Amino acid sequence: MRLQLGAVIILKFTIKLNNKLYIISTPIGNLKDITLRAIETLKEVDFVACEDTRVSMVLLKHYEINKELISLNAANENSKIEFILNKINSGRSCALISDAGTPGISDPGVRLISSAIKSGVEIIPIPGVTAAITALTISGLPTDSFLYEGFLPQKKGRQKKLISLAEEERTIIIYESTYRIEKLIKELSEYMPNRFMVVCRELTKKFEEVWRGTPLQLENLIKEKTIKGEFVVVISPKSWIEKDKISL
Ligand code: SAM
Repeated sequence: MRLQLGAVIILKFTIKLNNKLYIISTPIGNLKDITLRAIETLKEVDFVACEDTRVSMVLLKHYEINKELISLNAANENSKIEFILNKINSGRSCALISDAGTPGISDPGVRLISSAIKSGVEIIPIPGVTAAITALTISGLPTDSFLYEGFLPQKKGRQKKLISLAEEERTIIIYESTYRIEKLIKELSEYMPNRFMVVCRELTKKFEEVWRGTPLQLENLIKEKTIKGEFVVVISPKSWIEKDKISL
């Protein structure tokens, strides 16, 4: 009887220890930009839900972590949620990571997290890098209030969005890919020619570059530049340039 009680207590304790979903930020380029707690947690969890298993393998191999990987991406997120939650609810612990940065920030994860909350799973944040905040912190633009826009709509609603951003009184952060950065800068020249912009390319990587200026200045500058890699664009609030004149 005593033994049985002990076994029940141990079982309950084990379930309590596991049964968790850890949301872990990973580097946006430089593999050293990961916290000790993130590495420790990745080593301890039972399995890892990640966007692209090949991308996450590189990180995990670097830190000599060998785990079961389950892919969770924009296309399969809905169908994988039940499978992942069943595993967690059967007493396992799961780490959610994305290809880079913080899961759920212009990346999959939000639907899994909200479903996990509804099913009573404990969610534990293991914070770290986000490209948006990394860019904002070096922009020199106001950080007291900012708007994270992520990727602008590619077609429908893009023009409307640009018109509303032209009136924005907070610092704006936009994500853009190699393929559309030139188009975006041209559009910003048209819709908000007097704003000050900071374009951050390949942050934390070997070819990291930061370009500062008006959209027109940057349009001219990028003619001589390599337009490759990942970009974050930080834009000054509408009234900022008048208030805080800076030398471009
Ligand atoms: N979850 C990520 C985060 O926390 O920042 C964002 C993922 S989103 C799919 C990818 C976009 O983030 C890229 O297209 C780019 O706009 C931005 N990004 C990611 N890494 C970057 C880097 N090293 N330098 C500049 N921008 C980056």
